[in-house]
Amino acid sequence: MKQAEKSIQKPKSMYARFERKPGEDKTNTHYCPGCGHGIVHKLIAEALDTLDMAERTVFISPVGCSVFAYYYFDCGNIQVAHGRAPAVASGVTRANPGNFLISYQGDGDLAAIGTAEIIHAANRGEKMTVFFVNNSIYGMTGGQMAPTTLLGQKTTTTPFGREFMNEGNPIRIAEMIAILDAPVYVARASVHNIKAIMQARKSITKALQAQRDGKGFALVEILAPCPSGWKIDPQESAAWVEKNVLPVFPLGEFKDETVGREGISRARNAASDEQIISLLGLDTAPPHFALSNPKAASLRVLCAGFGGQGIMLLGQMLAHLGMRHGLEVSWLPSYGPEMRGGTANCSVVFSEEAVGSPIVEYPDLLVIMNGPSLDKFLPALVPGGVLVYNSSIIENAPRREDVQIVAVPASDLALQAGSERAANIVMFGVIVSVYGSFSEEAYSHLLAEFFTSEKILGINEKALRAGMEYARNI
Ligand code: SF4
Repeated sequence: MKQAEKSIQKPKSMYARFERKPGEDKTNTHYCPGCGHGIVHKLIAEALDTLDMAERTVFISPVGCSVFAYYYFDCGNIQVAHGRAPAVASGVTRANPGNFLISYQGDGDLAAIGTAEIIHAANRGEKMTVFFVNNSIYGMTGGQMAPTTLLGQKTTTTPFGREFMNEGNPIRIAEMIAILDAPVYVARASVHNIKAIMQARKSITKALQAQRDGKGFALVEILAPCPSGWKIDPQESAAWVEKNVLPVFPLGEFKDETVGREGISRARNAASDEQIISLLGLDTAPPHFALSNPKAASLRVLCAGFGGQGIMLLGQMLAHLGMRHGLEVSWLPSYGPEMRGGTANCSVVFSEEAVGSPIVEYPDLLVIMNGPSLDKFLPALVPGGVLVYNSSIIENAPRREDVQIVAVPASDLALQAGSERAANIVMFGVIVSVYGSFSEEAYSHLLAEFFTSEKILGINEKALRAGMEYARNI
């Protein structure tokens, strides 16, 4: 009984609650019934516990069904663009050799859009561990053919079954990576039944151990069921793997040089601050300005609206403005998969100290360009905070007694300035005026930096002045 209780305990490297899971039950993952991702997550977390690596691990989540892996692993997490996890992991490990990097990728992510990244990261022997989850289909996007789809397998894009003459053969990534000189450990495992899971646990642990011991690049391809994509009952998936997948993707260790390999040690050859400034052309940047009012020195800003309203640009301009005034800043865009067709937003943090987190859950300043964003974010505005909203689009005045509300007919003012698209710049003008802390000289520099076309620069200058003028008369 004690053994059974022990075996179902959650690894310490996983969060106690899985907030991604809809509904009240936060103990299960959000993956479909019978999906292999949950098992793979648990095996990785157990290995992190066993090897005591979580504290220094950075887990790179891909695009795909496991895009939300950061809801599960209690370690550093970065979510990256499709297929780019090995490139980001390379950057992190080069900058922070003391970190352990996990690149977690599906077959569409690694074997299609990210093929170049994985081959070259492996060939360079980057210090990272790649877990390549092969379920022979694109799961998240609805069951299209992946490079690993089996011959004859029906998918939404191969309704009559994959054919060599049309789509070529399934790609065996583990075997491809194993022929390179630099990787230290390459294996293929599976999680379709208990015996396979036990073997997968060993391979996953060995691959992580190789990194912990400084040996270099390791990859474990893990065959995982996707009953939803395969359109079969979860209970049938183990037999399906045995019959169809294993003959094409045999399990085993294709390369194991974990014993005896010296490992790759890259001396840090960091460029000096002066070299970086010169390389980026920042030595010609305008001078810094002094804040005339300290109230902007500690500010958490959230800008939100529809995609195409210049939300990201507005956030970038605010961040640059903060930088020009000697503040520490961060800018964090958010238009991931859950934003498709919906709102886009970005966070900006101004601080006199190093920014601990770029995530703004409870903003001091909320800049809202459309109704759905208002509904979504207004409750999060801190009491005493400032709401600036586009009253040209949002007709019903928002209600909150405990915050300052500034209604700005931004789209109308922008139209008068020459283009409705400059509504974000009107908002920028309102914000700088409301806070009154920034040098006016800095705005001109900023506009000229961001807009090179004379015509657009002219419209935006007018929009900026219109916003500032409007705010002065509130
Ligand atoms: S679609 Fe497939 S891979 Fe994605 S969560 Fe569902 S079962 Fe898992």
